[in-house]
Amino acid sequence: MTQRVAIVTGGSRGIGAGIAVKLAADGFDVVISYARDADAAARVVADIAAQGRRGIAVQADSGRVEDNCALIARAVAEFGRLDVLVCNAGTYPYAGVEAMTVEQVSRTLDLNVRGVMLEAIEAARHMGTGGRMIFIGSAFAERVPFANISLYAATKAALAGFARGLARDLGPRGITVNVVNPGPIDTDLNPADGAGADLIRGFMALPHYGTTGDIADFVSYLASEKAGFITGTALTVDGGLTA
Ligand code: NDP
Repeated sequence: MTQRVAIVTGGSRGIGAGIAVKLAADGFDVVISYARDADAAARVVADIAAQGRRGIAVQADSGRVEDNCALIARAVAEFGRLDVLVCNAGTYPYAGVEAMTVEQVSRTLDLNVRGVMLEAIEAARHMGTGGRMIFIGSAFAERVPFANISLYAATKAALAGFARGLARDLGPRGITVNVVNPGPIDTDLNPADGAGADLIRGFMALPHYGTTGDIADFVSYLASEKAGFITGTALTVDGGLTA
């Protein structure tokens, strides 16, 4: 079988870890990035190996320009090719407009928007026909049902515009670009038993949190050959939060 290689940013925990292991089960060798927790990253690399694929973990802060480029370069140097880029690393600032700081705005834009752009630009240099770019947005890009998440919602909404444009740029090369907008998924970032969880469940058509597997299964499909006609769009997997 032809070797296929995927990068998943923020792949050491939560949604990213679920995607990384699922892609390994699909036959990809997988490069994950992480920011701080090397032990968690090592556990995901072991889970990738358990699927019979090669995994490597790279400490790379998606909010730093140098790290964005270095991550893609490392993956290509290690495996010699790149087929799928999943930009998953993100931060969830929770602050009303009165409390928001310049530093918070800059850091959130750097990680949630600029990082995705630079990783995609760099990855595009190495992808061929059949390449896939998948950005993890948020259902809050489409609907903002309560206060204090305007900054987060704005950064996630930006990804849809970027994906639409990039799909046009890369379509002639046979590369697709899409956003997946998850609803509430039970992770360290948004635990199903967290303080605001009941409020969030109250907005959902299916009033329960999703699992990382719910998102990983969908990303797996988008990364597959079967999804070759889907590009330039944002797809929602949110238990009806935005219904
Ligand atoms: P988690 O906090 O559970 O996991 C975050 C992952 O990203 C970890 O692997 C972490 O590594 C890594 N990470 C954090 N900061 C950086 C950074 N600066 N550079 C590289 N990697 C980093 O988050 P989730 O899995 O819940 O969220 C993943 C994505 O999904 C985010 O973009 C989030 O906005 C989005 N999302 C999540 C939803 C949810 O309900 N959970 C809903 C909608 C969207 P380390 O441990 O080393 O810090």
